[in-house]
Amino acid sequence: MEGTFAHKRALVTGAGKGIGRATAKALLACGAEVIALTRTQSDLDSLVQECPKMLTVCVDITNWEATENALKDIGRIDLLVNNAAVAILQSFLSVTEDAFDKVFDVNVKALLHLSQIIARGMMCRGEGGAIVNISSQASQCALRDHAVYCASKGAVDMLTKVMALELGPHQIRVNAVNPTVVMTAMGRIGWSDPAKAAGMLSRIPLHRFAEVEDVVNTIIFLLSDKSAMINGVTLPVDGGFLSS
Ligand code: NDP
Repeated sequence: MEGTFAHKRALVTGAGKGIGRATAKALLACGAEVIALTRTQSDLDSLVQECPKMLTVCVDITNWEATENALKDIGRIDLLVNNAAVAILQSFLSVTEDAFDKVFDVNVKALLHLSQIIARGMMCRGEGGAIVNISSQASQCALRDHAVYCASKGAVDMLTKVMALELGPHQIRVNAVNPTVVMTAMGRIGWSDPAKAAGMLSRIPLHRFAEVEDVVNTIIFLLSDKSAMINGVTLPVDGGFLSS
């Protein structure tokens, strides 16, 4: 894939850890100039130590004003990966207003806002672009204690489709990737209990969780010209979970 994204500039949110960090590194390896965005400076410092060519932005994307300031001189962006998200697990009857707001602020509102900023730039330049939103299998299947997270990812799926509809005429493709469990920091919140993990694994026809690379490879495909006619899909990376 070396050279796939030569002369392209990419922005990845939530690039400090997990899937976002691996995606930023993969895009760099494919020839893109990459801007890694997250809210913890030490994660960006270690990323730059690993990949000296990585450009960075440190901002909490739930702060709209700070995000606008941080991105005002960002320059051309051809590829956007909306990956930053949080999960707070509560049973439906225990859901608090605070947890609802925290999850929706990051997973939905910030994704919409950041996409507006980047899509406006893409439209002004008139050269198109590609956006990948990281959703989840949880957008389409009920998971115990995931009421707010499931709802937020359902919103991401629908936002993806409306963005695809409205941005498509500007040659900006928008797709979502919907992974099953990946054992990142977030994955461990929900699935490190072996009994819970076994219950989930038994419902995945391939009988394994996704590796970070499984998700990254799908993101790279959806950003690349190999998927030039794919727009508005929510693509499971789930070993068959959603179709079984
Ligand atoms: P991690 O928790 O490992 O990483 C999330 C990253 O997003 C962190 O760097 C985090 O920074 C950053 N982030 C969170 N909130 C903000 C914010 N307000 N502003 C800027 N950056 C922020 O998550 P994963 O890598 O596991 O998840 C990546 C994506 O994949 C998410 O969209 C998630 O919902 C989705 N997903 C994950 C699955 C899994 O099992 N892991 C399954 C299905 C989907 P910090 O650490 O500093 O808070």
